[in-house]
Amino acid sequence: MRDYKDFLAEVLIEPEALQKRVAELGALISHDYRDSDALVLICILRGGVLFLSDLIRHITVPHAVEFMAVSSYGSGKRESTGQVRITLDLNMNIHDKDVILVEDIIDSGRTLASVLDLLSARKPRSLCVCTLLDKSERREVYVPLRYVGFTIPNKFVFGYGLDLDELYRNLPFVGVVDEDRYREG
Ligand code: 5GP
Ligand code: MG
Ligand code: MG
Repeated sequence: MRDYKDFLAEVLIEPEALQKRVAELGALISHDYRDSDALVLICILRGGVLFLSDLIRHITVPHAVEFMAVSSYGSGKRESTGQVRITLDLNMNIHDKDVILVEDIIDSGRTLASVLDLLSARKPRSLCVCTLLDKSERREVYVPLRYVGFTIPNKFVFGYGLDLDELYRNLPFVGVVDEDRYREG
């Protein structure tokens, strides 16, 4: 595997800043859902996995965790098609549950809009979105975001769950890729 330092343009969010913000979001969610007896966090695989696992350590309300996978971006692609297909569905029936959808990043918003349509059809008691990153300049369709970790500029990022052609999800920071140096290698 190539060393990420060969194509890292900059570290956008340091590990300490990520952990601090994730703890804040966990505390906010714990407060907002303190009276809920039906909280379910749904993580969209695979980018949201690191965020989810750190986030739930800070959630003090009892909750279930579910996973879902959809296909929209293919390996090597940088644009969302807007076509969303469920490749792994939930195990749980979310009817009458308080659902928080946990996402890594919202870009055009197309993937999220489709997933929200699919989930609301199942009649949860409530449904909202918690995203680590929001590339708000790139939004093409409106999506309601209740919890946002960081609003970031229009740059392709990787690390802390986000991949670069399926690799480097393990890095503890969010970094910006230098596309020229990445392609050269
Ligand atoms: P959208 O449908 O909002 O355009 O795309 C959302 C999905 O695109 C995210 O869940 C993520 O998989 C991918 N994506 C968008 N921007 C980035 C980025 O900067 N880095 C990475 N690794 N994935 C991204
Ligand atoms: Mg995602
Ligand atoms: Mg990806």
